[in-house]
Amino acid sequence: MPSQIAHILLGREAAQGLPDGWFPRFSEPSFRLGCQGPDVFYHNRRTKPGAFLYGTRLHRRGWGSFLARFRREALDRGWGPDHPGMAFLAGQATHGFLDRRAHPFVVYFSGWRIPGDPRTESLRHSHAFFERILDVLLWKERVGTSLAECRWQDDLPGPGDFPPDFWTAWAEALHEVFPQLSARADVETRLKNAVSDTQGFLAFTSPTARDHGVRAARQGALHWFHPQVLPDEDFLNLRHSPWRHPVTGEEHSTSFLDLYDQAVVEAQRALAALADHSADWEAMLGNGSLNLPGSEGENSAPQFSRPWSYEELYDREVRARLGEAGKLP
Ligand SMILES: [Zn+2]
Repeated sequence: MPSQIAHILLGREAAQGLPDGWFPRFSEPSFRLGCQGPDVFYHNRRTKPGAFLYGTRLHRRGWGSFLARFRREALDRGWGPDHPGMAFLAGQATHGFLDRRAHPFVVYFSGWRIPGDPRTESLRHSHAFFERILDVLLWKERVGTSLAECRWQDDLPGPGDFPPDFWTAWAEALHEVFPQLSARADVETRLKNAVSDTQGFLAFTSPTARDHGVRAARQGALHWFHPQVLPDEDFLNLRHSPWRHPVTGEEHSTSFLDLYDQAVVEAQRALAALADHSADWEAMLGNGSLNLPGSEGENSAPQFSRPWSYEELYDREVRARLGEAGKLP
């Protein structure tokens, strides 16, 4: 997952592909939640019974198949742009395109921890932290201000903000694709728990929640927060330096913005077909891995990487946050 803000920025740009007049009628917070794709399941770490495994599975395989079924449930029920479920579904459909394009870049530049190898210990949270670095810089590129002003994580919807048929449609689609993961009777409850945890986690780590950042700096959990004092490094690879696909080793020089722009075009195409019954959405969205697609789209393990100095970057953030706290009355 590139992080939450990148997914929302991309979703909003892709929304230009929607049928005329749809986006202004969307419940905008539901759309923003939708843009988080199956990452909403990754945020489900508190409330049980949970839905975490749906996140792992959907990132591996079946993304197109799941969303094509979800769309069928929505259209069969006659949802239009005023239904919050439709806004959520549209956001969901944009997520996978950015994941697929950006994950090789993210993994190459964040590396990974190898259990039992102390030299890789500093990479424990590098993936999550690098994604938040990208959020900050992408926001600056696209919006032009400081991410500290962004309120997108503050008002995401909770379980009470969706009508009952939303949960049924989402649960039906998931259960059809992954029938073995849970008893059908439990799925709605699991989904509500995932949405509730996502709402809580993203509000807690919101760029506007500065006091939470200070607390996280003290507790060693600052990698879930957006950095505020980044050094002047080319994290987005705007200079087009060579990097390698972590699975295939193939050389690239694309910047993060190039990858993002490619994903916008793909997501726009999918949203243009959102209400078109004749469009083959499963093929358009694809079932290949959202993590690290190999040459055939299959989920694959990485080999190549060149991580940034995460220990240094992290310590710099902790010092800044605690320094800021020291200045507070
Ligand atoms: Zn994701």
